[in-house]
Amino acid sequence: MGKNYYCDFCDKTFADKANNRKNHLKGLIHQRCRKAYYDQYREPGVILAEELSKRPCKHFLSSGHCSFMGSCKYSHMTDEQKQEMQRQIDAKKNVASSKTAESIEPPSLEKWLEKVQKCSKDKTKVDKIHKEQELPVYSLPPHLEGITNLPPSLLPPPPGIFTSLPLEEWG
Ligand SMILES: [Zn+2]
Ligand SMILES: [Zn+2]
Repeated sequence: MGKNYYCDFCDKTFADKANNRKNHLKGLIHQRCRKAYYDQYREPGVILAEELSKRPCKHFLSSGHCSFMGSCKYSHMTDEQKQEMQRQIDAKKNVASSKTAESIEPPSLEKWLEKVQKCSKDKTKVDKIHKEQELPVYSLPPHLEGITNLPPSLLPPPPGIFTSLPLEEWG
């Protein structure tokens, strides 16, 4: 009757034998749990910088599977995930750097409906609302800069392209 070894990272208990422990610590599940555990305490900026410094794991990104998982030396993040992370980091920075951010109300459906109702009979005003909408400005993520011959699907849409689209009537 031996002692049990409890692994905090994996929330797992097993018989405390040198062999068991060695196998567990080398195991992929353990390494994944361990990485996930530490990742939650790291700044997104640090994680992103690390991911950007790695080359993409072709195997994982094409099939969704990689036998190395958390311990893979290649990046398992898609471009979208990296961009999303960058957006989150930027959003955080913006909140931190501007004190006025707190006073800006979040957009509410009621206010929007009110605005639309007021203007619904006046086409030019409706158009104006559409133009006033803050449109996101897309730019190339830093790690894609300098790469020529990018396929069109990876290029950011030119600014203002959405405002020039015809407005379709719904319903
Ligand atoms: Zn473990
Ligand atoms: Zn991989």
